[in-house]
Amino acid sequence: MPDGRFAPSPTGDLHIGNLRTALVAWLCARSAGSRVLVRIEDLDRNAARPDIARRQLDDLTGLGLDWDGPVVAQSDRLDRYRDAIGQLEHDGLTYPCYCSRREIREAASAPNGPGHGRGGGRSSEDGPTPARLDGAYPGTCRNLTRAQRAEREAAGRPPALRVRGAGARFGFEDRFAGWFEGEVDDLVIRRNDATPAYHLAVVVDDADQGVGEVVRGDDLLTSTPRHLHLARLLGLTAPEYGHVPLVLGPDGARLAKRDGAVTLADRAARGIGPAEVLGELATSLGLAEPGAQVEPATLVERFVSTVLPREPWVLTAEVLDP
Ligand code: GLU
Repeated sequence: MPDGRFAPSPTGDLHIGNLRTALVAWLCARSAGSRVLVRIEDLDRNAARPDIARRQLDDLTGLGLDWDGPVVAQSDRLDRYRDAIGQLEHDGLTYPCYCSRREIREAASAPNGPGHGRGGGRSSEDGPTPARLDGAYPGTCRNLTRAQRAEREAAGRPPALRVRGAGARFGFEDRFAGWFEGEVDDLVIRRNDATPAYHLAVVVDDADQGVGEVVRGDDLLTSTPRHLHLARLLGLTAPEYGHVPLVLGPDGARLAKRDGAVTLADRAARGIGPAEVLGELATSLGLAEPGAQVEPATLVERFVSTVLPREPWVLTAEVLDP
């Protein structure tokens, strides 16, 4: 049975959207009789906090979601990521990149940049799902001469390391989004502070942990071709994917803390306990009637025969400020 997983970044308390995605990931795995693994994605040392990781796990437990085996932290796996990066370097697939974020943004929005026609990004011809490759790299440092590299080194700016996309395209059948296809840009695998990048770590971890199906928020749908590309280059088995539509606030923007009572703690403070939140999430997924009492185990049975909504769940002001 392919294992499932949930991989929160401990940078803030889980909100109702994150919890809903966790519930769906849990249901996908449990309904297939599979294990659920939890991985803490704490590579960003400036933002990740152990106390938040603890609360995230408590919130999952509070909803009644369990998992198998030890919780893995990415910060304990740095050597493994370094090995994978070394493999790609050894294979001649990487190059140093000296660009700042601002330079990339400016190059990407220039008249001949990837946002305009045949650059490294997506175009309207890219397939049935209209989506942009978030932050596609325009290729500025791809073919620097030795002298140009030396000049940038001398300026003292530490480089990030990118792996070449080489125009690769990857498509896959997503459990929720259907067929999705996209081009791969030259993505960062090691940040300029020497930290392995998320895109690299997630691919290595899912393969090493034997994850068979990755169920996560659909903000990562457009990055998945990158993950398939990296898995191919590293000789790793790629998982199946399911990207869950995000939860939106009343203004149609991605749900955020400022929107109101969005965390379990916020809702508890307004008299809505975790069992009721589970009911709200189940209702949003078409798995329960509004106000019904539900148990995770009952939801597993219902989940098997239910088609999940493919649209985002838009929360109303009444839900957010009960
Ligand atoms: N750590 C990511 C997040 O919390 C999720 C990554 C993934 O599921 O692949 O947004």
